[in-house]
Amino acid sequence: MANPNFLIVAFAGQSHINPAFQLAGRLLRTGASVTFTTTTTAHRSMSGIQASDRLTFATYSDGAEEGPKLSNFSLEQHMEDSARRCSEAVRQIIEASRGKGENFTCIFYTAVAPWVGEVARCYDIPSGVLWIQPATLFEIYYYYINGYGDSITNESNDPSSPTQLPGLPPLTGRDVPTFLTPGSPFRFLFTLIEKEIQSLKGDRKARLLVNSFDALESEQLNAIDELKMVAVGPLLPSLEGRGSSGASPGGDLFLGSRDYIEWLDTQPAASVVYISFGSISALSKPQKEEMARGLLSTGRPFLWVIKKALIMDGGDGDGKQEESEDQLSCMEELQKQGMIVPWCSQVEVLSHPSVGCFVTHCGWNSTLESVVCGVPMVAFPLWADQLANAMLIQDVWKVGVRVSGNERGVVEGEELTRCLEMVLGGGERSEGMRGNAKRLKDAAREAGKEGGCADKNLKALLEELVSG
Ligand code: UDP
Repeated sequence: MANPNFLIVAFAGQSHINPAFQLAGRLLRTGASVTFTTTTTAHRSMSGIQASDRLTFATYSDGAEEGPKLSNFSLEQHMEDSARRCSEAVRQIIEASRGKGENFTCIFYTAVAPWVGEVARCYDIPSGVLWIQPATLFEIYYYYINGYGDSITNESNDPSSPTQLPGLPPLTGRDVPTFLTPGSPFRFLFTLIEKEIQSLKGDRKARLLVNSFDALESEQLNAIDELKMVAVGPLLPSLEGRGSSGASPGGDLFLGSRDYIEWLDTQPAASVVYISFGSISALSKPQKEEMARGLLSTGRPFLWVIKKALIMDGGDGDGKQEESEDQLSCMEELQKQGMIVPWCSQVEVLSHPSVGCFVTHCGWNSTLESVVCGVPMVAFPLWADQLANAMLIQDVWKVGVRVSGNERGVVEGEELTRCLEMVLGGGERSEGMRGNAKRLKDAAREAGKEGGCADKNLKALLEELVSG
């Protein structure tokens, strides 16, 4: 029998490329061949990653080479365009492989991209969705579609009637993913998720892989009888084995100076507050000013990522895009106390011994990276899945504290100081969080090590695929 041969299709975002490339690594370790597909621009940024006899890159253009389109940008239109370009590319890759007398054993793709599953079905090739959010989110969406829609929507409006789903604490409006909020401009993203879930249910050959691990979400991973979730996480870049450039083996879309590592080296153990809001979200100017006030009032050293890039303001959910170039009023004082950078190698920062707390927007990759590095968090969710992830951090795993906004939705400096002191200030709760973080870190490393749960689960799935 020919060696298993997989196609991986990754959406061109940092939070897709990272886990998809780690999945590629795991598949290569089993002796299989992998064709990795993403956009030309995203691939160009995956510096330091070489093709080999079993790893091939096949890229396609999504038009991003022409530069960011700030005026009249519509995410919905962009997604439609990407879907068309991506489907065509996947078709051509399959045709080319067939032309050589080869066939893909399975096509894995990062969710949400139901169009890739459709192409796979056209060619009768099994497909596997790589869900890049926690199992908890898949569970919430699944139950929303299957009988709990009204309950979840109502509870967004009425916090006194929380929804109870298997293995989760009662869900209140502040935990519900914003794609489900009635009138959300991102409702079309939920429509894609719904399509994905329906086709998973209707396709016997389709598989659902989740970037999580059993010890982290044991009940949620088993919360749906008709759809088996296979935990293949944590899919994170190895903490070892970085090149001298610091480039993440997962492919860092933004590389730059690494002075911050030298600065971290000079700070006391577990003292630094690391602040980042992921690759696409950013804070409004007033929110940044409050963040600065909170940081100055703690007096603690910090490393703060403020991107100068195309961002989406998730705070008020209107999806507008802007360039974040605001100058903060207290820049001089801030620079005396900490460091502000436009981007950093996050896993390397989180695994640095001087980092004691992560103020995070609770994107799933960031959350998982903090868990794997054993760093307690201040959960500062903005939108989408981040709200439910914040609930996991504070209420389920108890490895952090969630901020509360004022009546205008702004998290004030005093609130940030309060949360930072709860995490870093010592005392019973702070020690408890640190202990829980340490336990999850050990469990994550056990699951992700060579031959651990993730490898075993993937191996079982591959055996199923190969035996048809
Ligand atoms: N990231 C990074 N450096 C930064 C900010 C983010 O390497 O300065 C990486 C981070 O490690 C994570 C990804 O970007 O892997 C962000 O993914 P996440 O799911 O947390 O958030 P999203 O960008 O999708 O909102």
